[in-house]
Amino acid sequence: MKKYYQPEIETMPVEELQALQSERLVKQVQFVYDNVKFYHEKMDEAGIKPEDIKGIEDLHKLPFITKDDLRDQYPYGLLAVPLEDCVRIQSTSGTTGRRVVAFYTQEDIDLWDECCARAIVAAGGTKEDVCHVCYGYGLFTGGPGLNGGSHKVGCLTLPMSSGNTERQLQFMTDLGSTILCCTPSYAANLGEAVNERGLKDKIKLKAGIFGAEPWTEEMRHNIEESLGIKAYDIYGLTEISGPGVSFECEEQAGMHIQEDHFIAEIIDPNTGEVLPEGEVGELVFTCITKKAFPLLRYRTRDLCRLTREKCSCGRTHVRMMKPKGRSDDMMIVKGVNVWPSQIETVLLNQGYQANYQIVVDRVGNNDTIEVQVELTPEMAENPTMTVAEREKKIVAGLKSMLGIKVDVKVVEPKTITRSEGKAVRVVDKRHLY
Ligand code: ADP
Ligand code: ZN
Repeated sequence: MKKYYQPEIETMPVEELQALQSERLVKQVQFVYDNVKFYHEKMDEAGIKPEDIKGIEDLHKLPFITKDDLRDQYPYGLLAVPLEDCVRIQSTSGTTGRRVVAFYTQEDIDLWDECCARAIVAAGGTKEDVCHVCYGYGLFTGGPGLNGGSHKVGCLTLPMSSGNTERQLQFMTDLGSTILCCTPSYAANLGEAVNERGLKDKIKLKAGIFGAEPWTEEMRHNIEESLGIKAYDIYGLTEISGPGVSFECEEQAGMHIQEDHFIAEIIDPNTGEVLPEGEVGELVFTCITKKAFPLLRYRTRDLCRLTREKCSCGRTHVRMMKPKGRSDDMMIVKGVNVWPSQIETVLLNQGYQANYQIVVDRVGNNDTIEVQVELTPEMAENPTMTVAEREKKIVAGLKSMLGIKVDVKVVEPKTITRSEGKAVRVVDKRHLY
């Protein structure tokens, strides 16, 4: 079937794509070396000259750049063009430490819009769609990114921003939104609101493009059911541009990385060594087309694996499997590695919704971990088990998933704060001491 809009570059044979990457990388390294003092010094220190980079096979020679480097260089240290050539900034949410500010030229914005447009098309979007964007607008990249992509596809764009669920539902029903763009946690929240108000037959949504935070397959399934849509994953980060660095196609089996703009590597987070395809490690990106803020070998701290296996959609770009979170999302509790996504899987498999919170604390020298999860309204109305029985069952499920005893508290519906943007799943009180 002919796609509504799909640049040939997305289906280019891999060898050609890699030749293009090599050509762009060589130019970019020279550009960055000439224009960013920080890189110039870092490459000199490492004894690398721009001419040493002849293609993607030499990428591993370049030094990494980390979030700490970005913080040290705040605000202008990594700018590669005169400030007067920049037209926009965006910023990370900066929950820990200094915010990171990224700069964009008009060309950088255009390429970002292009990536988001490709994501919308991959989710089945055409100019006939009504694209309801309730990612936050402002410094956060979610809203502006999908907004730009939606314009580019030619959809009618509803720049809703996040929050005010009543208004979201009103516009969604009155204007017949067909594509929903927001965080998966807000999508779950909207799904709940739609069903509570009996609006499922009144909405026209067919697809959702959800990202900016980790979410499990179980959560995808719940959202698809509650809104009657197909839910697609989208990934990105402010440092590299924003959402659209990679996105899912109709296969919903990993996100295609936009390799004409970004080169991805997977490294061993401890040694920095590049790992072979298929191994799980830290994702590293090199921007080969961006001008204002072109990071080379940026360590994302996101852990995932890549695959070049052929995808039935025809896209040749490498796929990244759902990241299970950042290396810093992993908690060490009672000496064991715990990922919030593992807990989510256990809860959703036992029929709960993604309304849960994890509280980690320390009593004396011992870690404590408690998971609070809401009863669904059906569970509260037609109890088939007592709360004590439910808690016991979850404790057993978590024990077999994590290998440790987790305290579980099943709470009444609507006790846990709903998220409008990125959900805060973990409260780690140990950091307060
Ligand atoms: P902040 O660092 O303030 O959260 P961003 O808004 O740029 O800044 O967030 C980017 C991060 O969000 C990524 O590095 C990744 O950890 C997470 N993220 C984005 N999209 C996804 C996704 N689809 N799945 C999992 N994690 C994601
Ligand atoms: Zn595909």
